Amino acid sequence: MSIAQERRLVTPVPGPGSLLRLERKRRHVADGVGTTLPVFVVEAGGGVLVDVDGNHLIDLGSGIAVTTVGNAAPHVVRRASEQLAAFTHTCFMITPYDGYVDVCEQLGELTPGGHAKKSALFNSGAEAVENAVKIARVATGRDAVAVFDHAYHGRTNLTMAMTAKNMPYKNGFGPFAGEVYRAPMSYPFRDGLSGPDAAARAIDLLEKQVGAANLACVVIEPIQGEGGFVVPAPGFLPAIAAWAAAHDVVYVADEIQSGFCRTGDWFASDHEGVVPDLVATAKGIAGGLPLSAVTGRAELMDRVHVGGLGGTYGGNPVACAAALGAIEEMREHHLTARARAIGATMASRLADLRETHAVIGDVRGRGAMMAIELCAPGTTEPDPARTAAVAAYCHAQGVVVLTCGTYGNVLRFLPPLSIPDALLAEGFAVIAEAFAATA
Ligand SMILES: *Cc1c(COP(=O)(O)O)cnc(C)c1O
Repeated sequence: MSIAQERRLVTPVPGPGSLLRLERKRRHVADGVGTTLPVFVVEAGGGVLVDVDGNHLIDLGSGIAVTTVGNAAPHVVRRASEQLAAFTHTCFMITPYDGYVDVCEQLGELTPGGHAKKSALFNSGAEAVENAVKIARVATGRDAVAVFDHAYHGRTNLTMAMTAKNMPYKNGFGPFAGEVYRAPMSYPFRDGLSGPDAAARAIDLLEKQVGAANLACVVIEPIQGEGGFVVPAPGFLPAIAAWAAAHDVVYVADEIQSGFCRTGDWFASDHEGVVPDLVATAKGIAGGLPLSAVTGRAELMDRVHVGGLGGTYGGNPVACAAALGAIEEMREHHLTARARAIGATMASRLADLRETHAVIGDVRGRGAMMAIELCAPGTTEPDPARTAAVAAYCHAQGVVVLTCGTYGNVLRFLPPLSIPDALLAEGFAVIAEAFAATA
């Protein structure tokens, strides 16, 4: 690895070079496009981001769970570069190419369940979710879509309707797509319910307010992402899936953030053996290139008429080559096991931290998808101010951490799985300092 795997600060963060560029950004980029930590990156790899001022920052965010295999991972670079030199685009709907079919074959193998599967490829996560809903509606002849509290499914019109949180995702952007119904999520820290009890609560609401016979699909993140890394209580997902199956409601797992080794399994649904009818994937799939997919039961996928699925760029050949490279990295480096090891380290650090800092109300997550929820000690009263202060301290010290959650009081940790142990340890030492310094 050519980039030194160390935290090295040579200027304040952001440094003078980044501050100059931030001023340019202000002149040319719409203010609606925000940045969490305005350091301008010139190079990245392993667990490090290098900025224009020469600072080396520890990456605990992976560009929101995207660079799971690491930035510029060797197999991604090699395959994408070769494809780039061969041809860049034909449009798969006009003249096809192998890479697209190869990715669909891999998705069929890797996603949960041994049944016959087919896939369709798109560009963004939101596009995958929208297409999953299209497929479910055609297959069932029904309109209604069930989603959950704290859900995040994207920023397009339909996915804004499916996303729970108003600010910043929805505010002022309506009217939203209709026939989207929201059920209560299992949120053990806040509702104290068992998985089966939380599922019964959600199912009761859907039956009373929508009716199973009107539902095309239930769309759920097996571990919620932007909503706060909410891990449903054991038994919740299997109960929802079983109820959906009993009523011919298509069960769609939005694995866009939780998929591709992130949680220590290939997919978060694997943990409880849930086999979704359709799976939406994106983020970690292609090592940073834009690609997404819907993978599902062949007979469901094939209900859509020819020409009904697609898009100009969906399954771009360079993005497909990158995905094949990313999957190669995952297999070769046993990244499910690596995610579990990283998860064990993070969980023990965070549990220690919770001993000394009562503001940490909950430690949760799985594998390399861990989070802490900050609340007034002994309560569930969110503390977004402390959360922001801890994040700001980490950023100034060269550790990229992300916040999330409906109440803005969750710190989430999603390091690239290529991060060396020593760097991960240093990142968490800085987080511990941040708690002490902001107490
Ligand atoms: C990021 C995300 C999306 C949207 O993906 P985009 O590529 O940003 O459109 C949808 N669902 C989940 C769970 C996500 O984390």
